[in-house]
Amino acid sequence: MKVFKFGGASVNSIDRIKNLVPIMKHWDKEKIVVIVSAMGKTTNALEKVADAFYTGKKEEALQLFDQVKQQHLTTAKHLLVTHYLPCEAQLKDFFTEVEWLLHDSPVRDYDYYYDQVVCAGELFSTSIVSAYLNEAGVGNKWLDIRDIFRTDDDFRDASIDWEFTKQKVDELVVPELNKNNIVLTQGFIGATDENESTTLGREGSDYTAAVFANMLDADSQTIWKDVESVMNADPKQFPDALSIPELNYNEVIEMAYYGAQVIHPKTIKPLQNKGIPLFVKCFLDPSLPGTVIHNKPFHNLPPIIVLKEKQALLEMNSRDFSFVGEQHVGHLYHLFEKLHIKPNLTQNGAISFLCVLDDRTEKIEKLALEASAFLDVQVKKGLSLLTIRHYNKEIVEKLTAGKSLLLRQQTPETVQFLLS
Ligand code: ASP
Ligand code: MG
Repeated sequence: MKVFKFGGASVNSIDRIKNLVPIMKHWDKEKIVVIVSAMGKTTNALEKVADAFYTGKKEEALQLFDQVKQQHLTTAKHLLVTHYLPCEAQLKDFFTEVEWLLHDSPVRDYDYYYDQVVCAGELFSTSIVSAYLNEAGVGNKWLDIRDIFRTDDDFRDASIDWEFTKQKVDELVVPELNKNNIVLTQGFIGATDENESTTLGREGSDYTAAVFANMLDADSQTIWKDVESVMNADPKQFPDALSIPELNYNEVIEMAYYGAQVIHPKTIKPLQNKGIPLFVKCFLDPSLPGTVIHNKPFHNLPPIIVLKEKQALLEMNSRDFSFVGEQHVGHLYHLFEKLHIKPNLTQNGAISFLCVLDDRTEKIEKLALEASAFLDVQVKKGLSLLTIRHYNKEIVEKLTAGKSLLLRQQTPETVQFLLS
């Protein structure tokens, strides 16, 4: 069996959803678990709904949510004839779930509400795509992954309970695969043992697909994207980005670690553990070779570039000119763990500790507040973090020219610059 994952861009228009039919028909002899992301920018739109709700702007939240609803209803109307009514009923159930919550006032953490709202994007998209494929002759069974993927309650970054989930996969997914050949479900989301929705981190549906591939011993996983393959940089930031035909798991883990948006960092391990190859292919032209990621060594990779914007630098200094040593640093790492903060870069000096973080205001404020109990803390925002793997002199000069350099960190393979 195989696992396919279609990202948000592959279902962001009527034509693109229609385009899934020939792709799926090409593989009609295969048993496939298909993961479909939220359509286009739906996840971002739902984040805005959660933000408005949490900051007490109930009307705005409902209004923003209404736009998302209307977009999905319009898409469903354009695509579906015989399957419209049942699909509409399913969508309306999900709408009600969210609206019911939006009418309340927030009493829990932001991350909890975020997950309850944002998970709807995948439920909407999969309902529509499943109905459409069924109508177009690609028989499939829609499943609510929240009945299968059990997680902890670390909202926005939930961890999967592998044992429970594997049992559910055997119980609910395997029989459907045997009956229908295709099972269509959501990525990125799950549920706690109290049936609260959770999410696994942005772009998490690649990871969901990999967990399925692992649990079902898939022959391969394919991620269908709007780019022709994995590139050595984000072509939106670097128009002359190059295509990479072959990579190994380790390089992809490194790329993801430094923030390349190609593949969710957690995706590789479940595949690597079972030696399952990962294909990255273009849904706009499935005949293109794309990229294969497997265990083979490789040579002569081009420089791989990752640029992370919206970075914040926290500079923490000792108050009395004493060294910032293991006690301070140990304490700081406890705070990172407690606040679920993953620094993108850290550097320890004699009387200072520097760390670069994604600019998530709430978390940074909490960290700064707690750290200021034992260190002086200064925060600088609006920075970017440039990482170059397999770097050379020319590329470093080209990409840092005219920028002001706040920090540099270097190993033989990787160099990082904090730029303002
Ligand atoms: N829809 C989610 C996101 O945009 C998850 C995913 O597509 O992987 O982050
Ligand atoms: Mg976790």
